[in-house]
Amino acid sequence: MPQPALLVVVALLGLAVGSFLNVVIHRVPRDESLVRPGSHCPACGNAVRPRHNVPVLGWLLLRGRCADCRTPISPRYPLVEAGTAALFVAVAARFGLSWELPAYLYLAAISVALAVIDLDVMRLPDKIVLPSYAVALVLLSPAVIADRSWSTAVRALIAAAVLYALYFLLAIMPRGMGGGDLKLAPLLGFYLGWLGWSSVAIGAFSAFLFGGVVGAVLMLLRRANRKTRIPFGPYMLAGAFLAVFAGAPIAQWYASLLVPTV
Ligand SMILES: [Zn+2]
Repeated sequence: MPQPALLVVVALLGLAVGSFLNVVIHRVPRDESLVRPGSHCPACGNAVRPRHNVPVLGWLLLRGRCADCRTPISPRYPLVEAGTAALFVAVAARFGLSWELPAYLYLAAISVALAVIDLDVMRLPDKIVLPSYAVALVLLSPAVIADRSWSTAVRALIAAAVLYALYFLLAIMPRGMGGGDLKLAPLLGFYLGWLGWSSVAIGAFSAFLFGGVVGAVLMLLRRANRKTRIPFGPYMLAGAFLAVFAGAPIAQWYASLLVPTV
């Protein structure tokens, strides 16, 4: 498939997945079913008409209000859909039509859901994180078999153990990491270890860098103090994606600082 066609297909897939993620983001923290009932307005309870359920366009068509009771619908719905599509396109541009592509699209999808849920309720639900270990293993196994990349798979598993150890040490420290972060860390370690050790290092380091910078800014703006709990999942995920997209150039730049160019 030519690259432009792949990007269009993946963008449409991202819009559809983003629409489903809105349901996941709303219902998983409330322990509600993902299938029943169908989409409905939380204010008046009326079912959403199929044409209004089209990602992004439905919200624009309604001008951000329920068709029946005119209650405003949060712009977060179209933003999650457009954001998922944009992330999917970036992942497809990074990996092309490869064995790895489905695995990293899956990572992109759960990352959107986990980041928004963590910001909402300060939790990374087990219902999303734990099954993702099995999904990641299944989705990456064709790459191991087709490309005979056994050493890559072993490195990914070791990286998962390394990040678990790092977050375990942070979790047992006073006011340490939450349990959700500890369960997510090895999954990100696995995905980043698949790409290489520099990606693992960049992903882990930039999570703390992003978290630290945002925490400092919030304190400066007096929106937070030393006791405020800040969800760390979004920074872990942002750091991981920085490593996925820019790991190689960052590693080269860092190496160029250490080794003076002649
Ligand atoms: Zn309504």
